[in-house]
Amino acid sequence: MKRIAVIGAGTMGNGIAHVFAQAGFEVKLIDISETALEKGLATISKNMDRQIKKGILTAKDKKACLANIHGFTDLRAGLPGVDLAIEAATESLAVKTNIFRDMDAHAPKKTILATNTSSISITRIAAATSRPDKVIGMHFMNPVPVMKLVEVIRGYSTSDAVTNKIMRLATKLGKVPVEVHDYPGFVANRILMPMINEAIITLHEGVAGVEEIDTVMKLGMAHPMGPLQLADFIGLDVCLAILNVLYEGLGNPKYAPCPLLVNMVTAGKLGRKTGEGFYLYTPGSKELKVSPTFF
Ligand code: NAD
Repeated sequence: MKRIAVIGAGTMGNGIAHVFAQAGFEVKLIDISETALEKGLATISKNMDRQIKKGILTAKDKKACLANIHGFTDLRAGLPGVDLAIEAATESLAVKTNIFRDMDAHAPKKTILATNTSSISITRIAAATSRPDKVIGMHFMNPVPVMKLVEVIRGYSTSDAVTNKIMRLATKLGKVPVEVHDYPGFVANRILMPMINEAIITLHEGVAGVEEIDTVMKLGMAHPMGPLQLADFIGLDVCLAILNVLYEGLGNPKYAPCPLLVNMVTAGKLGRKTGEGFYLYTPGSKELKVSPTFF
């Protein structure tokens, strides 16, 4: 594999493009939004500067990596000749099935089509294509350049050959792949999201404040980040979408999203990416301030 397309240049898509470019692949980064594409490319450059400061990358490497990434706003223009296309667009079944239908129509027949979905059925996504044996989940963690894990999810029809190729590819990127089966939320989010939801319910019921909840989980459980800060980091819209998939897919009320989470997403407070969630985020500042809503 040499040429990769990444569809979606948001939080995850730009990170996935970053690690592939760094591993020497030619990357086509595609987003329907010109603004999101530019922001994604700027984020890659900024994150590479951070790697230079840490001595992980040289300025020359950065130049070579960035030269490997080409931006597109038209899916059709980005797909010809790619060996693998990884979809990292909005967590919505409708959005993803449309993209997979288009990818199936415009990517070469031998191309593997992967999705970075956090929770949606790979089998359902694959059903939108004429090549379900070549559709697979490749679930990177956030931030992609830092986190080691890749959950590799086989759909009902995913072939052994495709699964083995993706497992080897993840290892080549310096990641640790773990193969799991196709159930709502797979493993990572089936366990993580109920914890985040419970932290939001704990806040909603007034058991403790934002900082108190996060401090208990950081110092008490040795988590590097509290669950509310982590929810902001993931994106509250993404958390809500995953909880809805768990709730509907597993049919158990224990996964019902907290009404506070629903209200925050409806109000457009999506966490770090919009500047406000449980905390406030000021560009260029590392200081973590609780949102005035929760004083
Ligand atoms: P995001 O909202 O940051 O970015 C999504 C991007 O997709 C946006 O830039 C949007 O313009 C683009 N997009 C939407 N429709 C498109 C289309 N038809 N064609 C091309 N681009 C399109 O979302 P994200 O957090 O990067 O999540 C992307 C995927 O990764 C989701 O499936 C999510 O569940 C998964 N994921 C997210 C995290 C996380 O921590 N945020 C972690 C692992 C997996």
